[in-house]
Amino acid sequence: MRKALLVVDVQNDFYETGSLPVKGASQINKVINRAMRDPVYTILAGQDWHPSNHMSFAANHRKEPFTPFDNKKGIGPVLWPVHCMQGTPGAEFHPDIESNRFDYIVRKGTHPGVDSYSIFRENDGTNLGTAGLLKALGIEEIDICGLALDYCLKYTVHDALSSGFKIRVIINGTKGVEANEGDVQRTLDEFESAGVELIEK
Ligand SMILES: [Zn+2]
Repeated sequence: MRKALLVVDVQNDFYETGSLPVKGASQINKVINRAMRDPVYTILAGQDWHPSNHMSFAANHRKEPFTPFDNKKGIGPVLWPVHCMQGTPGAEFHPDIESNRFDYIVRKGTHPGVDSYSIFRENDGTNLGTAGLLKALGIEEIDICGLALDYCLKYTVHDALSSGFKIRVIINGTKGVEANEGDVQRTLDEFESAGVELIEK
């Protein structure tokens, strides 16, 4: 039985020297590369891919990054620094990640007015086709790693569960952004109550 490995947003802007850095992000590269060498996996990567006028950018509201904001239409709960703009080095995969192993890449957040944390659907519910793709490939079980634990990875886990997949989180292959203190712990608590297994690779 084939499995999927979802590699979430391992892009330069989410690493230590990027515009929206996740602390310790580069520590996960080795783990992810090791996991990707397992031939059981079909590998699908998420790539945050925003136009310059994206409404998740605080600068486009003349506000400071991390200002609370929720328009109930797919932007929020906070505004972000400019990150992962289409075609910029910040949007590229980290050079230490063996991205040549990716079988599929799902780009998300491409519409100016809607953000997209999950690899399965945009924040307004628009389907990105990922569940259909994985089901067409006969995949029922997913392992997930990447950035950031408390946003894009968390939302992807929830959507995988509601699409009927069994999902495990590679806990040494992810780090959180912690935009609000305690976000990582709250995410882990949510995983526990949803029965999501945490594994190490
Ligand atoms: Zn984004």
